[in-house]
Amino acid sequence: MNGEGSQEPRPEKTPQRAPNPFDGHTFIWLALAFFLYYVIATVSQPSRESLSYSEFKQELITNNVEAVTFRGDQILGSFRNPMDRLPRFSTVQPGVDDDQLLPLLEQNNVTISAESSQDPPWMRLLFAVLPWLLLIVFFLYFSRLMQRRMGGSSKDGMFGFARSGARLFEIDAEGIGFDEVAGVDSAKQDLREIIDFLKEPDRFRKLGAKMPKGVLMMGPPGTGKTLLARATAHEAGVPFFSISGSEFIEMYVGVGASRVRDMFREARKRAPALIFIDEIDSVGRVRGTGMGGGNDEREQTLNQVLAEMDGFSAEEAVVVLAATNRPDVLDPALLRPGRFDRKVTLELPQQSARLAILEVHVRKVPLAGDVRLDEVAAMTVGFSGADLANLVNEAALLAARGQAEAVSRDDFNKAHDRVVMGSERKDLLNPAERLRTAIHESGHALTALRLEEADPVRQVTIIPRGRALGVTEQLPTEDRHNYSEDYLRARLAVLLGGRCAERLVLGNVSTGAANDLEQVTRMARMMVAQWGMSDKIGPVHFHIGSEHPFLGYELTQERDFSESTARTIDAEVRRLVTEAEALCSRTLEESRKDLDRLVEALLEHETLDRETIDAVLAA
Ligand code: ADP
Ligand code: ZN
Repeated sequence: MNGEGSQEPRPEKTPQRAPNPFDGHTFIWLALAFFLYYVIATVSQPSRESLSYSEFKQELITNNVEAVTFRGDQILGSFRNPMDRLPRFSTVQPGVDDDQLLPLLEQNNVTISAESSQDPPWMRLLFAVLPWLLLIVFFLYFSRLMQRRMGGSSKDGMFGFARSGARLFEIDAEGIGFDEVAGVDSAKQDLREIIDFLKEPDRFRKLGAKMPKGVLMMGPPGTGKTLLARATAHEAGVPFFSISGSEFIEMYVGVGASRVRDMFREARKRAPALIFIDEIDSVGRVRGTGMGGGNDEREQTLNQVLAEMDGFSAEEAVVVLAATNRPDVLDPALLRPGRFDRKVTLELPQQSARLAILEVHVRKVPLAGDVRLDEVAAMTVGFSGADLANLVNEAALLAARGQAEAVSRDDFNKAHDRVVMGSERKDLLNPAERLRTAIHESGHALTALRLEEADPVRQVTIIPRGRALGVTEQLPTEDRHNYSEDYLRARLAVLLGGRCAERLVLGNVSTGAANDLEQVTRMARMMVAQWGMSDKIGPVHFHIGSEHPFLGYELTQERDFSESTARTIDAEVRRLVTEAEALCSRTLEESRKDLDRLVEALLEHETLDRETIDAVLAA
């Protein structure tokens, strides 16, 4: 129900690139020019009168030939008196040698010369090489085109730093500083040391202090890892090389490794410098797990990263920051001393941190008097920094569309709904579907209202949004770090509440609950197999796939339990779910009148906020 990490915007600044030593276009034009020149040179030979051999002989005998040039079996010549013909002529010798020709020529005082039958040597060389040259040029050109398509380096040449695909951000005065990264104070504290080192490497060197070569930043998407890395480089005033792990993996085996090499070489040249590798898990996964294919390439790339990090001495002021949201899958080799031995953990922001982040993002946004950022921070439980930035932007967009001078509280509420529940769909439900949806959502809402452990209801709507026909939004009163068994059981019951209500009121169920059931089953499995909440299974933890209950990562891992345990797990999961279903059925049956009232109100108003719900139920 919460917004997941939204698309991170690419840094706004245009990255600087190394100058381009080689441009495919230049070569193509050069080659074309040569080709054209040759064609024109060949075609535009000075035109001559074309004579048969006997005609030529005749002219010779009448002493009308001034000079001849032998070129292979061709004879080119000029007339003494062309009359009404062209001044020059050409003819071809017959296959058999004409013994009389030379004496005849000498007899008539004709100037004789000869040329090799072939093109001049430079021309021949060019023509031996030209097709290959063209081929190579086309190949380079297309491979660069492909690279650009695949989002790799674009305008860079094929050689040198550019090939690494890294984006280089020069030191700039108005870049992002630490005060633009909010709510991550402990992470900032950890990075201060790195900044000091990059600023004054000599001070550390003199004291023989060894700096960490690598810092691993771990945290969910959108928590500001990239932002923090850039801010670190900015604070230290050093160049910032940024590349994403997935960009290392290219079509050709070995490209990734050479990119790593190029990037490190360049960074060392410009030391002190900071290298940022995003999504390091895409190259740094545990080796040999056979996941995702393309192992060779990944391993080579990873090995190259490790070799580079081992290769530079502690004296070289190059620090590698790497980011991942999957620290659990990283190859242990990456985490050994001398590599990424420092770790910085970023969490989804708590309420106060959310407030701080919101404050950063509204700096350039004019707010109306009724906006209370602490209220916004309170209703954005589970939002990442990126989600919050997105929320502010959505609200500003809404205000702009409404021609408003400032962004109002209402804009924030609307933006929140859109971000959390998806945008409203225009298509209307038919009356039967609408009734069923109202019953379904009322079931969720009422179960949540009646069960003490469940998160409070914020609003219910039967306006189709995103892919859902209706939404019941709950909002935790505080940020949770930990879930009690009672809370989880209540959550199961609330998730099943929609289906329970349909069964209770309409006497049957529909496909609309598929998504609810999926969540229920996933959570029940975790309760049984990982959180020790089943007495039959006991307090043990089995790998069953996803690691985080509400993020829904799937990770195939070898099953570490027996067939009979699997059967017990299945049975226990079913028991938990059945118990939850009984709980919600009982709850709804006891409040049947309230359920009907809620359905009626929903059909009338389509969206009910918490106050309206309370009013309806109190009536
Ligand atoms: P990550 O690299 O962890 O996925 P990013 O650093 O790319 O996340 O964050 C994306 C955007 O979210 C940033 O550009 C920024 O606008 C916003 N953001 C994330 N965390 C914070 C924060 N702590 N303070 C301010 N803005 C943040
Ligand atoms: Zn539902």
